Amino acid sequence: MLYECHAHIMLDGVSQKDAQSRHANGPDESWVRAKLEEYKAACVGYIRDGGDKFGVSVLAARIAGEYGITFRTPCFAIHRKGRYGNMLGHAYEDMREYRNLVSEVKEQGGDFIKIMATGILDFNEYGKLTSEALDEAELEEMVRIAHGEGFAVMAHCNGADNIKAAVAAGVDSIEHGFYADEQALADLAASNTVLVPTFAPICNLIGRGLFHDDVLRRIAEQHALDLARLNYIGGAAAPGSDAGAMNVYHGAGIKDEYGYMKAAVSDDALREGEGLIELLFQRR
Ligand SMILES: [Zn+2]
Repeated sequence: MLYECHAHIMLDGVSQKDAQSRHANGPDESWVRAKLEEYKAACVGYIRDGGDKFGVSVLAARIAGEYGITFRTPCFAIHRKGRYGNMLGHAYEDMREYRNLVSEVKEQGGDFIKIMATGILDFNEYGKLTSEALDEAELEEMVRIAHGEGFAVMAHCNGADNIKAAVAAGVDSIEHGFYADEQALADLAASNTVLVPTFAPICNLIGRGLFHDDVLRRIAEQHALDLARLNYIGGAAAPGSDAGAMNVYHGAGIKDEYGYMKAAVSDDALREGEGLIELLFQRR
């Protein structure tokens, strides 16, 4: 059985615009069933979604059992107003609004909280992120609130200092985690936080002519070195392809991801990461 520890069942790997209009009047159940069927055919038995604002992952979580799939959802991702994350969730401006969103996840039957702690990579320039990161104290408060409500926290996070802050704040998993440094990896290894490195959205872009391949290759190569180092010093990492992102398809994407990760870590290490994600990301 395969584990897909980071998917967006709402997205289609081709067009964000089409994906959003497909579910604009409520989640398209035939779409969700077709994707769950593809996952089942690919022997994926566990999916952890990264959230969407259309209720697609909530519907998927409700019916995935019919396909023999354990499906965990944060319902929607939570981002600070004006920062990255609009398509995937809802925004807060202060801690009162954030608490309300956490309560909403609880009401909708969500399994964990997804926080957008930083922007995404600027594929045109090595080392650059698209938007500002959350303040360290704010992130710490958000994690404390989520844990207090019995939720694990999945944090979208890139950049060495941001990874250090997220680990210090006690997030349960770091998604993407590009541009780590030695200290960020050491902090990760010394913590209970699992890294989900999501190679597929970068590696599957290589050769498409949309961005400079030398930048994409440099990002992917450094990320693989970081993953190997994390593994060597005792940190945990789990497979998640960010399925639904450009060129990353449901069911196929996680097979790509296993291939990319296996270049850096052993099968045993992958099994351990999968087990930790499954264990951590259930309601406590
Ligand atoms: Zn994602």
